Amino acid sequence: MYIKELFKNKTVFSFEVFPPKKTSPVEVIYDTLEELQGLSPDFISVTFGAGGSGNSRYALEIASKINESGIIPMLHLPCINFTKAEIDAALDEAKSRGIENILALRGDINPEIEPVNDFRYASDLISYIKTNGDFDIAAACYPECHPDAENLVEDITNLRKKVDAGADHLITQLFFDNDNFYSFREKAAIAGINVPIEAGIMPVVNKKQIERMVTTCGASLPAKFVRIMTKYEHNPEALRDAGIAYAVNQIIDLVASGVDGIHLYTMNNPYVARKISEAVSGVIGV
Ligand code: FAD
Repeated sequence: MYIKELFKNKTVFSFEVFPPKKTSPVEVIYDTLEELQGLSPDFISVTFGAGGSGNSRYALEIASKINESGIIPMLHLPCINFTKAEIDAALDEAKSRGIENILALRGDINPEIEPVNDFRYASDLISYIKTNGDFDIAAACYPECHPDAENLVEDITNLRKKVDAGADHLITQLFFDNDNFYSFREKAAIAGINVPIEAGIMPVVNKKQIERMVTTCGASLPAKFVRIMTKYEHNPEALRDAGIAYAVNQIIDLVASGVDGIHLYTMNNPYVARKISEAVSGVIGV
């Protein structure tokens, strides 16, 4: 089933998982998947390394496994380091495994890898898939601006190119301040972007994640969020509970504000996904 159909009737609630490292067998994720599937999300997306991580085969296998369980899978597909032939092979394999939903991405530029550049931007990949295959296509968007763009106006102009090329719906980068999302959604609407936008929510539940947030993620950290993380960073259980509560509050506010969907970055943590799903199941269904 095409994911775009789901937005017609409901607030979509979906999960993201990532494949295990190539040094681990793919099976290490199967228990996690089983628990996530038990929470009946509308779909589960599977990340795909933009190059060098060697986990692309796992991504296809995991997406197939999700499909077999009766949950709709979405395969992420970054293009910058792949040739047209490699993209064709991935799309053919997705099709043959019954995977109908693709999140078309450029991928991060890795300074150690010379980009292939058969597809320079995600919009190039979207146009290509649109004319060469029968897939539902999602694309990424950035409420606080993609780091390579000069400013949000330029980034939203480029986002419009993805929608014009055929993106059926969008998923945001994670954010911790809902006001940034609301402001972005308004600007996107003014720019004529009228496809559903799912909000990407990342529950921050351990210290390692906080450190990663601070150093690598462009998302701004509201004072309230910093206060909570600082207070509980040395108490793993309290931090986990506080991170879950923060994400739940974000989701309830987003749903009350008419968000099209919530995409939960589960970090392959079924406990956290379950706690959040239980806490929001009432509001999402209303
Ligand atoms: P693009 O849309 O191509 O944009 C990249 C930059 O180029 C932006 O600054 C944009 O403004 C600019 N731009 C776009 N089009 C044009 C144009 N026509 N002319 C000039 N400038 C242009 N990465 C992975 O490797 N694997 C994953 O599985 C993965 N999953 C993700 C899931 C989500 C929900 C999100 C938000 C990101 C994900 N990423 C993933 C990260 C993503 O690949 C990076 O953020 C990457 O740097 C940009 O990808 P994009 O598809 O948004 O690129």
